[in-house]
Amino acid sequence: MKQVVFWGTRGSLPVSLTHRDIREKIIAALTAANGKSFKTRLALEDFVDKLPFTVAGTFGGNSSCVEIVADRDSHFICDMGSGARPLGQAKIARFGIPHPQTYQIFISHLHWDHLMGFPYFAPMYIPGNRIVIHGCHADLERAVRLQMQSPCFPVDYAQAGAKIEFDIMTPDEAHYISGINVTPKRQMHAGDSYGYRFESVDRTVVYSTDSEHRLDDPAEHDAISHFFRKADLVIFDAMYSLAEAVSVKADWGHSSNIVAVELCQAAAAKRLALFHHEPVHDDQQLARMVAETRRLEQITRGSRAPLEILSAYDGLTIDL
Ligand SMILES: [Zn+2]
Ligand SMILES: [Zn+2]
Repeated sequence: MKQVVFWGTRGSLPVSLTHRDIREKIIAALTAANGKSFKTRLALEDFVDKLPFTVAGTFGGNSSCVEIVADRDSHFICDMGSGARPLGQAKIARFGIPHPQTYQIFISHLHWDHLMGFPYFAPMYIPGNRIVIHGCHADLERAVRLQMQSPCFPVDYAQAGAKIEFDIMTPDEAHYISGINVTPKRQMHAGDSYGYRFESVDRTVVYSTDSEHRLDDPAEHDAISHFFRKADLVIFDAMYSLAEAVSVKADWGHSSNIVAVELCQAAAAKRLALFHHEPVHDDQQLARMVAETRRLEQITRGSRAPLEILSAYDGLTIDL
């Protein structure tokens, strides 16, 4: 495994910037540029690249879809949220039509924010492609087909040109798929969700979203930190702040940035990506959350190796 590309990082439903958000970013950028002059485009790009991420960027965007760039031919994808649409477009731009490719897709659970991008995933309409949809829910195929039925969607599932297969996996067992060992683990969430641990010869990535991790249960704590053990990257559902997670939103099936740090430290993981952002959190709130998370990691680090922390955004590419 070489890289991880985030195509959709928002939780629950896609969120777009509003006119007001864009206006505020332009005002902030022009305020920072006040009195400066830029003779070349390069000078301008350099200035923009030094602006805070909340001014020059945005967390986005589309709902859950993450690509793990593997060493072999198969494409590895976690979840089919609305980020699957730009992912599919990128694959077609790269490989053309027809482009016989194999897509290994791992579905965490059947909530709509994790499936809604599939009807817009263009490679599914192209003959010659093979799509294997892996998951642990017995009704995985029914859920995927359901959202493409009249009157909810104009194109019927039967019109898919690609060969689509379903693979129901057994939790806690390693499944060897195209050069990678994939182990699913059941997580606490309405209707259950499953995290996936991907292990290649020299890299480990854990995708763990839509999961309410309880630190007050020692057995659960040990099981999850074992699942995360020594991962190069843990992609973690940090939808809520700790205050939200332990009060009004307890039992809502999601975790916090505080729990993420605790579990990744116990697991000796190297990098943590905060993921599945709450739709009501704007760029400022998400930037504050990652800054607070980094501070917490520093304070609680002790003699451990540092844990690198980032907040995932649509378009982010991480070299493993
Ligand atoms: Zn979700
Ligand atoms: Zn969910």
